[in-house]
Amino acid sequence: MSYLPRSIASRIKGKVLYNEPLRNHTTWRIGGPADIFVEPASRKDIALLLEFAMANEQPLTVIGNGSNLLVSDNGLKGVVVKIGDALGRVRIVEEKLIAEAGAKLGRVTAIAQAAGLGGLEFAVGIPASIGGAVTMNAGANGVSIGDVVDSVTVMDHQGGQRMLSAADLDFGYRTSRLQRMEAVVVEVELRLAARDPLEIRRRSEEYLRRRRVTQPLDSPSAGSVFKNPPGEAAGRLIELAGAKGMRVGDAVVSTKHANFIINAGNAKAADVLLLIDKIRTIVRDKFGIDLELEVKVIGNSGAGWLDAICHQGSKPLAGSD
Ligand SMILES: Cc1cc2nc3c(=O)[nH]c(=O)nc-3n(C[C@H](O)[C@H](O)[C@H](O)COP(=O)(O)OP(=O)(O)OC[C@H]3O[C@@H](n4cnc5c(N)ncnc54)[C@H](O)[C@@H]3O)c2cc1C
Repeated sequence: MSYLPRSIASRIKGKVLYNEPLRNHTTWRIGGPADIFVEPASRKDIALLLEFAMANEQPLTVIGNGSNLLVSDNGLKGVVVKIGDALGRVRIVEEKLIAEAGAKLGRVTAIAQAAGLGGLEFAVGIPASIGGAVTMNAGANGVSIGDVVDSVTVMDHQGGQRMLSAADLDFGYRTSRLQRMEAVVVEVELRLAARDPLEIRRRSEEYLRRRRVTQPLDSPSAGSVFKNPPGEAAGRLIELAGAKGMRVGDAVVSTKHANFIINAGNAKAADVLLLIDKIRTIVRDKFGIDLELEVKVIGNSGAGWLDAICHQGSKPLAGSD
């Protein structure tokens, strides 16, 4: 385990924790400790952490609300930077909504609704930070956040900031160029449209109601585990393959929505990974389709084949464990 030198720690205004269990920061409630865990209170904090990680060849991993992450039981080496509420200011300028990356989508959608700005209703109920949402190009009901992004401001290794337009970001199905860039999203500008707040509310409530009916929202999960193959729903394939209720340890394929794996108590990342492997195998055997992960698996499990899966989703900004 490593520590921040006093010269850096004393200048950071945000929360700094050592050996912090990452299960406290993922919606799956799974994940071992981070050597150094920081919730920055300002962009200057982020720049200091990037400078420290670069100078000391420490891996640095950025997380948002941890709602699309499977973190290794062994935790993460180096620095984990959680872009959270302390970097979550939101303002409206005419029909633009400008949010710092840590703002939760729930708050952003409520602010948009109150201001009579429509276009974000689809996102109601996605438990993301807006920085994580643009990185993943989160979406639902046929709309994705990339459809309403005007620009995104990122910070690079050197602490420099630049604004990228939506056209620069290569938005696709649950993907964006941000997933391949070594940069921290610090601010997002959305272009919305003036609409009747009551109409926005009606639509939002309908989307939320549908979520409650179809998704196991009372158990810890990371939403859909697999991407939908072209023209198919991953959940339907998993259900038809007979995997509903399949279990490894406390990791269970939801009986309500087969593309959700719930943590029924004390599930480990290794349990979820084994279950993922079983689901992939039975879907491949039955339909000849290879399911691709939507969740990002990060960290090193210490077991060969698990690590092959683990590294596909990681986004270390400086070095790698
Ligand atoms: C109950 C439930 C329902 C869900 N429903 C949906 C849904 O309808 N549609 C959908 O698309 N997803 C859904 N999800 C999945 C998840 O909410 C989204 O993928 C979301 O976009 C993740 O955002 P986050 O802030 O939690 O990011 P995290 O999970 O913390 O991180 C995701 C990725 O983004 C990167 N990242 C996060 N923040 C930043 C940043 N500031 N700068 C650079 N990189 C960053 C991380 O490194 C990681 O690679 C659901 C999840 C749950 C638990």
